[in-house]
Amino acid sequence: MSNQDLVLILNCGSSSVKAAVMDVAKKEVLMSCLAEKVGNPDAYITFKVNGEKNKHDLSAPHDHTAAVMALLDELKKLGLYDGVKAIGHRVVHGGERFTQSTVITPEVMRDIEACIVLAPLHNPAHILGIQAAQQAFPQLPQVAVFDTAFHQTMPPHAFHYAVPTSLYTKYGVRRYGAHGTSYRFVAQETAAILNRDINQMSMVIAHLGNGASITAVKNGQSQDTSMGLTPLEGLVMGTRSGDIDPSIFSFLAANANMSIDQVTEMLNKESGMLGLSNLSNDCRILEEAAANGDQGAELALNVFAYRLAKYVGSMTVAAGGLDALVFTGGIGENSDSMRKKVVDYLHVFGLKLDDQANLDARFGKSGVISTKDSKGNVLVVPTNEELMIALDTAELTGMHV
Ligand code: AMP
Repeated sequence: MSNQDLVLILNCGSSSVKAAVMDVAKKEVLMSCLAEKVGNPDAYITFKVNGEKNKHDLSAPHDHTAAVMALLDELKKLGLYDGVKAIGHRVVHGGERFTQSTVITPEVMRDIEACIVLAPLHNPAHILGIQAAQQAFPQLPQVAVFDTAFHQTMPPHAFHYAVPTSLYTKYGVRRYGAHGTSYRFVAQETAAILNRDINQMSMVIAHLGNGASITAVKNGQSQDTSMGLTPLEGLVMGTRSGDIDPSIFSFLAANANMSIDQVTEMLNKESGMLGLSNLSNDCRILEEAAANGDQGAELALNVFAYRLAKYVGSMTVAAGGLDALVFTGGIGENSDSMRKKVVDYLHVFGLKLDDQANLDARFGKSGVISTKDSKGNVLVVPTNEELMIALDTAELTGMHV
């Protein structure tokens, strides 16, 4: 028996399996892996240990179970297998059923299945991943950590859409939000950095990656968030439009002969910064292009920043104040120029950026980037969803950390 306390974190998509092994006490990732093209004959898995990568083909039937079995073999080779005491799964949608992370039981599996209608692309893959892990590690407890759970504290006036309430009662049409695990982590870190009690703080946190959302957190609880029934609503994203007049469906059906599926695909995959720039969904590429005079790239960045700044205003209302505005996610953690564009709009709230601190807070560095006389703190806090999943898993399975 190993006396190490390790958690295996699994994040299964429809054609991918992402995993990491974390030493929870040290908050350290000991190995990670990514299986891609899962379900196809050319599926492969790449392991990363101590910065070194090695790639293997996945054996037949090239599915989620094959990926988890390959991971199990690798853990044995690396001498980590005996140290793994529990498995934590990222699950995208827990509907209204799950308000926090939970140990997986047959009943929990049925409830995750019942949420498939709300996340038809994600939850079926999570179920395959959980089943594969149960088969490969039958002796280990497993925990589900839901992206939606943190937002279950939203009050009815925030989660209801102004549509007939029968759509809510019959079909569950409401705002659910996403990125909840990230928000929970970042809210705790923010309070710690500011040496404040999280239960007496109003924060607005912007998680800006290829998918982007923003959340109002009051006294440690989500009050409102920009993503809705699906991740399409809210901010401008890499390829998603965010907020739009829903009449676009009938307008394009009448004028462009487009079907519901085609408009949905266009709004999810061809819009956002990609659609605006006609160049890329990637903020880094757009910043370079804009610096070289590309007008489409500049427009994309400006629409992104303006929409985000408007949302900071509305989320400040939801949070009941603004002790801290926090940037996280790939763009939030790295793009000093995007942060500046956004905070420039927020002079109206008395927020002021310390330009040098803003420049310094990149590539994984956290910190306060506002001036001393700014009316609220502005921070950069790198997110760590894996750590949050590992900590929840350790706590729920009684690991001593
Ligand atoms: P994520 O989905 O959280 O991995 O974030 C991906 C986004 O972060 C992409 O749009 C990247 O271009 C952006 N990003 C990563 N590094 C930088 C950087 N140094 N400057 C600007 N954007 C960045």
